[in-house]
Amino acid sequence: MAARARIECPTCRATVEHAFCAHCGEKRFEPGDVSVREYLSQVFGTLFSLEGKLWASLARLPRPGVLTAEFLRGARVRRLKPFQLFALLNVVYFFVQPWTGTNIFNAPLSETVFFGSRSELHDTLVAEKRAELGLAADADLAAFKARFDARSNDWAKSLIVVFVPALALVSELGRRRRRFAEQLAFVTEFLSFKIVVLSIAAPCAWLATRRMFDALPSFSSSPTFGVVWSLTTLAASLAWFAVASRRVFEGSVGAAVAHALALGIGYVATWAAYHVLLFVVTLWSL
Ligand SMILES: [Zn+2]
Repeated sequence: MAARARIECPTCRATVEHAFCAHCGEKRFEPGDVSVREYLSQVFGTLFSLEGKLWASLARLPRPGVLTAEFLRGARVRRLKPFQLFALLNVVYFFVQPWTGTNIFNAPLSETVFFGSRSELHDTLVAEKRAELGLAADADLAAFKARFDARSNDWAKSLIVVFVPALALVSELGRRRRRFAEQLAFVTEFLSFKIVVLSIAAPCAWLATRRMFDALPSFSSSPTFGVVWSLTTLAASLAWFAVASRRVFEGSVGAAVAHALALGIGYVATWAAYHVLLFVVTLWSL
């Protein structure tokens, strides 16, 4: 690189000899840096560099654990980091959710349960809140439900942040690591997979098929279909955990299977606890 006039770095005040500051990475300021053309290239450059990384990351999701293994190995520049990918997919999830009707991270009033069953406590708390809001009459149920669901959906977007470390803790119990951050990356990749395959791709494919065959039930309306779907997603999740655990944490097949089983049980428990938290926080904030 040809030497250029020495200048003082406007960011860190070190002496800059080339196009970039060797100390902090600041780019040498050029007259063309503040222009409409440069502005447009920054806008599109950001979008396309993000898009390139997004597609490269999504293309790896069908192979469990590859994104995490690459991240832990230090190969990061061409992919989104695990949490970036998850955060982006989360936005997509809440965008398409009203259309697909799948609920992983949000819980409408009709589906709020306490560890698998509707409890008396649940009904009492709802009745008290309806009385407090003056919506106790049967005719007001729809109005109350609409308010509850909207608030619950808002809370789910931020409470999902609690879900990630909780699941990472479960993963840690199933398979000890030196660094907890490895578990965070691992479960974040899992949740990204879950969002793409089970909450976006599968329901959209189902909706497209239903347009051709009217007899198929809607994604959330049929109880039998709901049970079959839950078991399918549980089996898919267990398979993902086992393959990814072997790929990321290595070791024997037995250790990976044991880890997968611990994660499967832990996932259901974490999910139930998360739903209770979401229900309580939503009700409290109404
Ligand atoms: Zn500098």
